[in-house]
Amino acid sequence: MLIVPEREISNLMTREAASSAVERVFAAMASKDAYNFPVIREAIGHEEALYGFKGGFDKAGMALGLKAGGFWPNNLEKHGHINHQSTVFLFDPDTGMVKAMVGGNLLTALRTAAASSVSIKHLARQDAKVMGMVGAGHQATFQLRAALEQRPFEKVIGWNYHPEMLPNIEQVAEEAGVPFEAVDLDGMVEADVIISITSTFAPTIMADHITPGTHIACMGTDTKGKQEVEAALLAKSTIFTDEVAQSISIGEAQHAVSSGLLAESDVHQIGAVINGTHEGRTSDDEITLFDGTGVGLQDLAVAASVVDLAVKKGVAIEVDF
Ligand code: NAD
Repeated sequence: MLIVPEREISNLMTREAASSAVERVFAAMASKDAYNFPVIREAIGHEEALYGFKGGFDKAGMALGLKAGGFWPNNLEKHGHINHQSTVFLFDPDTGMVKAMVGGNLLTALRTAAASSVSIKHLARQDAKVMGMVGAGHQATFQLRAALEQRPFEKVIGWNYHPEMLPNIEQVAEEAGVPFEAVDLDGMVEADVIISITSTFAPTIMADHITPGTHIACMGTDTKGKQEVEAALLAKSTIFTDEVAQSISIGEAQHAVSSGLLAESDVHQIGAVINGTHEGRTSDDEITLFDGTGVGLQDLAVAASVVDLAVKKGVAIEVDF
């Protein structure tokens, strides 16, 4: 069995590798060569932790396994560890034997950033110039860094519920050499592409904040009850997602579907656009919305990719197991 420790991931994994791994697995999901298993997520009644498993099998990429982990809200304060903790386990699909154990913390951030960036690649207008960010927490910095590589953006505009956090994303824009401007939510009408990545349970982005032709990637809603955008916005958008079942139950589409504004059949897999079986954006006036809910297959795809890189660089630890 191979071990790739968390400390090695930042030296190995690139945004490009994460993006191709995620793009490939989204395509495999749409062609039914890969499927996710039902997600387990439990409040374990200890340390206020939420713990669970996300797994699946990608027959095209021959990746079988799971990510185990969750959220320990007291970690940083009590133990000096980050609050999100996860580990990916990969198994040999031919024998069921364990193949690899891989640190999953940074990989989770990179695979999530890759999802919105793949959506921009396939759904945003080619002439997109202004990148809008709603959210400025831990994950927002990863999303913005990856997004800025998809189009020659000339400006980043940002809004956050906690304005004191805006320097987090301002710094990323500056590092990429793109000017940054803090705006209020009405100012988002200037954006050609928007990523929302917040943990809110009440919508902040309203239908009026979005102009025709915008692509919006909603990345924060991954649980029942969370909501970043007004349901009416979904009704006037063409909706894409990583996985339809998650989008309508725990993703951004849950609210529009439960209120009857949207049918399940209105939600399309982004993998179909990647495969060319869905036409994707059809006009410069269309609003496209990607509901990125986060699937286990994304974790397996980036973990398999990093194991290959670790073997090539000779840093995978081999143990007799
Ligand atoms: P974080 O705690 O670092 O940041 C939270 C963000 O939400 C900040 O911008 C904060 O200002 C904002 N926020 C908090 N309360 C708000 C409110 N009431 N209204 C509006 N904004 C508010 O968290 P993070 O790691 O950046 O994660 C952000 C979200 O993304 C979380 O909901 C997390 O579960 C989700 N997430 C999704 C995926 C996926 O695959 N889709 C992956 C990782 C994280």
